[in-house]
Amino acid sequence: MRPTGKLHLGNYMGALANWVKLQDKYECYFFIADWHALTSDYADPSQIAANTLDVLLDYLAAGLDPNKSVLFLQSKVLQHAELNLLLGMITPVGWLERVPTYKDQQKNLANKDLSNFGFLGYPVLMASDILLYQPQFVPVGNDQTAHVELTREVARRFNQFYKLDGREVLPEPQVLLTPSPQLPGTDGRKMSKSYGNTIQLTDPEPVVRQKLKTMVTDPARVRRTDAGDPDKCPVGDLHKVFSTPETMAKVYEGCRSAGIGCIECKGWAADSLVRVLQPIQERRASFSSAQVKEILDDGSCRARVRAEETMRQVRDAMQMTLTSPAAK
Ligand code: SF4
Repeated sequence: MRPTGKLHLGNYMGALANWVKLQDKYECYFFIADWHALTSDYADPSQIAANTLDVLLDYLAAGLDPNKSVLFLQSKVLQHAELNLLLGMITPVGWLERVPTYKDQQKNLANKDLSNFGFLGYPVLMASDILLYQPQFVPVGNDQTAHVELTREVARRFNQFYKLDGREVLPEPQVLLTPSPQLPGTDGRKMSKSYGNTIQLTDPEPVVRQKLKTMVTDPARVRRTDAGDPDKCPVGDLHKVFSTPETMAKVYEGCRSAGIGCIECKGWAADSLVRVLQPIQERRASFSSAQVKEILDDGSCRARVRAEETMRQVRDAMQMTLTSPAAK
């Protein structure tokens, strides 16, 4: 994840909650992509360091365990930059210009000048981030499979050009599709930091309740006496993800018969959210900032060892192995 600020429930349901489960089954690497933050925020990097610590705290709070997974910071593993440079040599510019998010983001973030080389090349950096660990799988939601496909194409091209003792160095990773329910934000659009409609993992209970109170509902339900439909209501969508079947039954019955008001229904949704957020917030409070930095240092050190193993093979395959006299 890019360190652009505290994480929200959409990030939790779309990624973190899945990652927490995966770490019991796989050897996992999770990192904070601070160089990726620079591709668009290069003009003002003042928040990146603080945001990095916040994101790591959110990782830990959600249940990522540094004893099970490697949690690290991209810029502390310089091999990402080296592989990015080498893969940049073989990636056609046309592939990058065709990435849908390239044009979309340039349009959506019109207040930022995204005509920089780094932004065009971010899919190569992303491919490097992945291939550096020679993984079998990349856990992503449906909306991110295109990025993994590009990574596979880059790996394929690399393997066509270079081999090490006749074998391929960069295996093509598979997509590991993880559930990523589209969570609505308070305005009914997809929950996203850029829309300012999020419920953060750190929001205290009164803030959660207040945000829910202002949340949009089924537009057909104008008066208290109008019947509504939870399937057409963003609050109903939150219930579906976070509430128990018993609460869901009460919501469907009460909304469709106008037996309950939206205020009451939103109160139940807030109860369900608070039940999920409470243990996350308690875990967050149990880490000191010194511990967080130590976890990041230790994880980055472990990541460097694994990354260097790959880079030795990459350099060998590309015949970039002449040792200079000074280095001997
Ligand atoms: S009762 Fe609940 S589900 Fe129905 S419109 Fe109101 S907030 Fe939405």
